[in-house]
Amino acid sequence: DHQIDGIYQGFLRQAQTHPEKPLFHLPEGRTLTYSQVLQSSRRIATKLIGDGVVPGDRVAAQVEKSPEAIALYLATLQVGGVYLPLNTAYTGAEMDYFMSDAAPRVLVCDPSQTAAHVQRGKDGIVVETLGAGGEGTLLAAEQEHAEVAQLSPSDPGAILYTSGTTGRSKGAVLTQGNLAANCASLIQSWEYTEEDVLIHALPIFHIHGLFVAVNMTLVSGASMIWLPKFDPDAVLDAMPRATVLMGVPTFYTRLLSSQRLSAEACAGMRLFVSGSAPLLASDHEAFEARTGHAILERYGMTETGMNTSNPYRDGPRRPGTVGHPLPGVQVRIVDRESQASLPQGEVGIIEVRGDNVFAGYWNMPEKTAEEFREDGFFITGDLGVIDEQGYLSIVGRDKDLVISGGFNIYPKEVEGLIDDHPGVFESAVIGVPHPDLGEGLVAVVVPTGDDAPEETAILRALAGELARFKQPRAVRFVDALPRNVMGKVQKAQLRKQYTDLFSS
Ligand code: ATP
Ligand code: MG
Repeated sequence: DHQIDGIYQGFLRQAQTHPEKPLFHLPEGRTLTYSQVLQSSRRIATKLIGDGVVPGDRVAAQVEKSPEAIALYLATLQVGGVYLPLNTAYTGAEMDYFMSDAAPRVLVCDPSQTAAHVQRGKDGIVVETLGAGGEGTLLAAEQEHAEVAQLSPSDPGAILYTSGTTGRSKGAVLTQGNLAANCASLIQSWEYTEEDVLIHALPIFHIHGLFVAVNMTLVSGASMIWLPKFDPDAVLDAMPRATVLMGVPTFYTRLLSSQRLSAEACAGMRLFVSGSAPLLASDHEAFEARTGHAILERYGMTETGMNTSNPYRDGPRRPGTVGHPLPGVQVRIVDRESQASLPQGEVGIIEVRGDNVFAGYWNMPEKTAEEFREDGFFITGDLGVIDEQGYLSIVGRDKDLVISGGFNIYPKEVEGLIDDHPGVFESAVIGVPHPDLGEGLVAVVVPTGDDAPEETAILRALAGELARFKQPRAVRFVDALPRNVMGKVQKAQLRKQYTDLFSS
């Protein structure tokens, strides 16, 4: 049984049980043990208390990926603060928005960024610095604050801004109970234990890298091989010492382009996970053929943590699906218009309910009310369909649905067919304004090599496979699709770029 009272409590128990065990494996054979991380976090906690942080106060962190950043996260939980990690790519205006929206007590930045952030200290925000290796103001405390704030599962533990794929980022308030519930269901489903050594190559300002990968490790007493960012060679170098890789689909695309990827290279690994964006079925199949490992794909989002997962043990991992609801999570599909529950096999909006589902959007009571049903289900904004075996497939985002000539078109169906075309690496299908159809379909295609296939060849092939209304009206070739740091295709950006295509 994996009852966890809180992430901090789970970590503390591990640090007391095996203080000398490495939590972090760092470059050049260096390690940081559970007890060293505990000590750092307690020194940081001393500083946070000195800065006036009381339970419920936000502690914002815009810092490079480092073990110290995890100590800061733990210190925040320890004192009952609300951890608010921010993408290091955010600059002036974006940061100003987050600071005024979240009004943190403390903003932590890298020492090199101090000048840019100090002016934000004006609104009563204390600016602290945290550097890898321990320089900066936060680790300067000599005292270790050991007291742990007494909190309940409904107290907030973190605010996480969504990726901003479909609009302005929203701050999702995740409670202590949300973080713990999510972690517990994943540990159980993926049989994650203290024997595991995770290759951690994800950013730590996102649900995936922090609240999935790091939380699971802290609570189960496992270790992490800590990579500053994803690099296929670094991951392949780490594999002989590791057991699990948690990644986004682009990790797998890039691993597949390495000659070094083989069954032998992956022999010691027990699990490869993919999430945050759709995994190409062709990558799933190619990876299994090359390594003997079927990638386990799962589905989650900032607001809910993880909702579904393909089976670890009890059944096949189905390419193109995101598996079954995790323990404690309920998933239903409802009609876009009538909101009635739909049977298996029918496409509709995915709604979820469970202890994993967030408390609401920060400072956005109306938006929060709009996104929840009266019976507590959260409206994800994703479209999906459940098959007879209960596997969920993500059909796309509701906002990416194209309505052309009065017909609904799910871009993913068209993209799948285009991707099968020889010479096509991948594609994104979008709808842009069209004088007759409302929206006209545009296929944005990335060719495999230098010779792009003919537009007419693609359109001719699709004509044999798709009803007329689903056929793209134009094809555009590009070198790469615009993606954010989590590997998500920025369709809003593409729509903007091609918005005038049919209007002349
Ligand atoms: P915003 O809400 O600000 O527009 P976002 O939805 O991209 O941004 P995240 O919470 O990081 O922000 O991403 C969650 C979304 O990612 C899901 O709603 C879903 O659309 C997509 N997603 C996650 N996992 C998968 C998956 N395995 N397959 C397909 N899509 C996925
Ligand atoms: Mg979203």
